[in-house]
Amino acid sequence: MSTSPQRLLIQNARLFIPNRTGLMGWLLAESGLIRAMGFGNTPDFSHEASIKSLDAQGDNLLPGFIDLHVHGAMGHEVMDASPSGLEEMARFYASHGVTSFLATTWTASRPSIMKALQLIKQMQGQIRSGATLLGAHLEGPYLNPDRCGAQDVNFIRRAEKEEALEFLETGVIRLLALAPEYDENSWLIDECVRRGIRVSAAHTTAAYEQMLKAAEHGVGHLTHSFNAMQGLGHRELGTVGAAMTLPQISCELIADNIHVHPAAQKILVDVKSPAGVILVTDAIRAAGLPDGEYMLDERSIHIQNGAVRLSDGTLAGSVLTMERALQNVCTATGRSLAELWMMSSLNAARAIGVSSCKGSLEVGKDADLILLDESFNINLTIVNGEIVFSKLN
Ligand SMILES: [Zn+2]
Repeated sequence: MSTSPQRLLIQNARLFIPNRTGLMGWLLAESGLIRAMGFGNTPDFSHEASIKSLDAQGDNLLPGFIDLHVHGAMGHEVMDASPSGLEEMARFYASHGVTSFLATTWTASRPSIMKALQLIKQMQGQIRSGATLLGAHLEGPYLNPDRCGAQDVNFIRRAEKEEALEFLETGVIRLLALAPEYDENSWLIDECVRRGIRVSAAHTTAAYEQMLKAAEHGVGHLTHSFNAMQGLGHRELGTVGAAMTLPQISCELIADNIHVHPAAQKILVDVKSPAGVILVTDAIRAAGLPDGEYMLDERSIHIQNGAVRLSDGTLAGSVLTMERALQNVCTATGRSLAELWMMSSLNAARAIGVSSCKGSLEVGKDADLILLDESFNINLTIVNGEIVFSKLN
């Protein structure tokens, strides 16, 4: 059903590719894949039929963003289990440079979670005029009520086999976030590792030693670092301190300057290196909507100046978009886009095992591409070789 040409040539772009970034060049996409690219002048493709040529006007050409942790946008949320809602979300994300995402559930009843997972299963793949739905990120319900944040404490529970296996059997979960300190949850870590599902420590009281144990078990990821966990202390290193010392743990970061102070963002990136940090939005249904009052589930939330809070002041996700996250973390760390681009794409692709086809500009990978101008605005989003968003004329 695609109306885009078979071949798409992007010229006059600054290419961000592994080990060699920031040089001007060109890229040719064909049949949804990156077919060729190079620095300098574009070779003569004029003899090739049906080639559409785009002038990037010097914009940065990056791999499309991959958001592993996102709940909603434009008034919709994954937990609504609405097909049109999920489509609208995928289009909104694409307009902010996201080419792939994991639809993220939260703590709720078993039927609500199953309903959401079943819809994700039904809609997996590229969503018309939007980003690709790569699968599900199950955030909760197996969390610690003492660090629930905005997760509904009434539904937080331990991992019970019959229920959790029903979730896993949908086959769509690529990332599962739980509190690793409970013995009742440890079988689920093993089960996920066996199935190739990334396990994340989330909404947890796990202290340093408990995190070391969890990592030995196979926990390889940390959900929204610093938030809903033990902070870093010099005697009690806490959850964050453990993740900082464990190279196998990839750290999610909500770089909205609200969830994490810019200086803490810098500390995390400096310690983990850019390869160890993954930008996520954790955006909820109010993303893309103006400030005001909205409903989260049965609870109301208040959005003001980019901060989303429950009535008691608890942060409840964000209205962040990926291009702003990337801009914020560049500013916070004083590092360049050339150093940090992988935090919005490649690291996420690696974490969930899709880096053989996504996450970087390499010949043979999916043509998931964005043009980002020097003020970090998205001018073009291409998903599987198809233009889904464009501000170019
Ligand atoms: Zn959370």
